[in-house]
Amino acid sequence: MIKRHSVIVVGSGLAGMRAAVAARESGADVGVISICMPVRSHSVAAQGGINAPLGNNPESKDDSVDRHAFDTVKGSDYLADQPAVIKLISLAKETIYELEHWGCPFSRSEDGRIGQRPFGGAGYPRTCFAADRTGHSVLHVAWERSVRLGVPVYEDRLVVKLTVKNKKVQGIIVLNFITGELEMWECDAVIFAIGGAGQIYGATSNALNCTGFGIAVSAWAGISMKDMEFIQFHPTCLYGNNVLISEAARGEGGYLRNNKGERFMEKYAPEQMELAPRDIVARSIYQEVLEGRGYGPKENGYVHLDLTHLPESQILERLPQIRELALRFSGQDMVKDPIPVQPGYHYTMGGIHVNENCASEEVEGFYACGEGTCVSVHGANRLGGNSLLECAVFGKVAGVEAAKYAKEATPSPDAKFTLFEALHEQEQEIDFWYSGEGKSDPFKIMEEMRNTMKFNVFVYREEESLKIALDKIRELKQQFNDGVYLKSKVRQYNRELEWVFALKGMLDESEAICMGALARKECRGGHWRLDHLKRDDANFLKHSLVSFADGEPKLSYQDVIITKWQPQERKY
Ligand SMILES: Cc1cc2nc3c(=O)[nH]c(=O)nc-3n(C[C@H](O)[C@H](O)[C@H](O)COP(=O)(O)OP(=O)(O)OC[C@H]3O[C@@H](n4cnc5c(N)ncnc54)[C@H](O)[C@@H]3O)c2cc1C
Repeated sequence: MIKRHSVIVVGSGLAGMRAAVAARESGADVGVISICMPVRSHSVAAQGGINAPLGNNPESKDDSVDRHAFDTVKGSDYLADQPAVIKLISLAKETIYELEHWGCPFSRSEDGRIGQRPFGGAGYPRTCFAADRTGHSVLHVAWERSVRLGVPVYEDRLVVKLTVKNKKVQGIIVLNFITGELEMWECDAVIFAIGGAGQIYGATSNALNCTGFGIAVSAWAGISMKDMEFIQFHPTCLYGNNVLISEAARGEGGYLRNNKGERFMEKYAPEQMELAPRDIVARSIYQEVLEGRGYGPKENGYVHLDLTHLPESQILERLPQIRELALRFSGQDMVKDPIPVQPGYHYTMGGIHVNENCASEEVEGFYACGEGTCVSVHGANRLGGNSLLECAVFGKVAGVEAAKYAKEATPSPDAKFTLFEALHEQEQEIDFWYSGEGKSDPFKIMEEMRNTMKFNVFVYREEESLKIALDKIRELKQQFNDGVYLKSKVRQYNRELEWVFALKGMLDESEAICMGALARKECRGGHWRLDHLKRDDANFLKHSLVSFADGEPKLSYQDVIITKWQPQERKY
């Protein structure tokens, strides 16, 4: 049987829930499909805060939309599209107040206004926060709002295929974990809000379902991947396990120290010090370790994040969760001791290619928002606190736009046929994996993929290692396509099957990352080429697009939209 909603949202994180609420409030018949229940999406783990130029902090009285937008563009190393950034920041203030009115328990300043803390790369303290559990609070209120509006959420389902005919969305094929069966869902418009792709590297601050699989699913249906080579390595992940220690720890006054006890950021960003943008801080830590001033082995060393000079009460009140995480996962109490940190995969700057209305210009009826999407507002490096904002702002934009489109859309007469065909094709692939005829263990391929990416496409990159990575990923893809097998033969709740799907997607995502990184012979934001140590605006002030429309990946470029701020040298 074919199920139907006029607008289907894929993903129940902040972007997805905000989109669903907006589509419902615009009058659409909307349903959300997700791997997990809303408040188990990775958004719940966001710690430090959400940015807006409210000017509540005594030090941020002069803050404005213009200044916040400029910091974002500069932070992006001029790769963000400026009209999209201006749209994001112009809507920031009302977005925060909307979340507040929905019940978000923001931390307060003495005079009762929403508290704002300093964050990296920002000219003023403008990061609104709910202690260090901001994601938890904003995701809960968005979800509660959707419950109030009666938006159905279909959990335990993985979207594995997008069906498109004549460049128009028709529906999706969904794996239902509860029954183990495939389902057909028809829709007029679909919104992908599928989150980041940290699991490609394994060593990541991201949750297990952050595989970016939806980026690949949409690419297979003809929607390009954009700027995939831009990955944010967060400077302060806990050594050994990548648990995130939010930038809020430095925002509250934490220092970074090398094995000589020096605050080494003095050398790299004398003005902003620990609060320089993340790409710069991550590289500085990496450099200290490489030059022997870190702790542990050079190839996998760490530095210290030191908060011991802060009053205990400040840590307990403003950073309670981070203190607990560090205590549990490194055994160190940050009130008394420095904690060991190193850079790790944190954020996917690239993603599904859409315009500033969250609409695809390649496939009609397709919309996307949130981390797995590239609008692009983060360009080559995202500023901390801008991502929750992006999810809330562009989630709403996507919901409104999709509802508007769906209202006018006429259902395609052959949608059902296309869905049946796609279902059949997908069933055959799954049956083959279950048959045991495939020769390769998918988990071995995944391990090799992760090691390849971790060791060759990390903070520092160069031609030789990128070539090695691209060749290896292509070899692994071939192995996958020659046949993999499932060890577990159960049909219901077969999480192994979920990983096989994710792996298929992550291999294509990895290929796009390597292709973009190899071709981009410059340093820009999170992409640092040791063999091309300068930013090259003449040749690379442009977005990379990788299309899988004809099966084989093709790389092309699109101009960056610059309307207000001409590129300058980036100093902090
Ligand atoms: C530890 C941590 C701390 C962070 N702290 C901050 C912060 O303080 N401030 C800030 O601005 N940003 C922060 N970020 C980044 C920010 O939280 C994320 O970028 C943002 O929450 C992503 O939201 P999303 O809705 O796009 O994706 P997610 O919240 O990851 O949700 C993705 C959803 O998609 C579903 N899904 C995925 N693929 C499929 C599929 N194929 N079929 C069905 N469902 C699918 C998943 O089930 C999930 O519901 C942090 C990130 C991490 C990891």
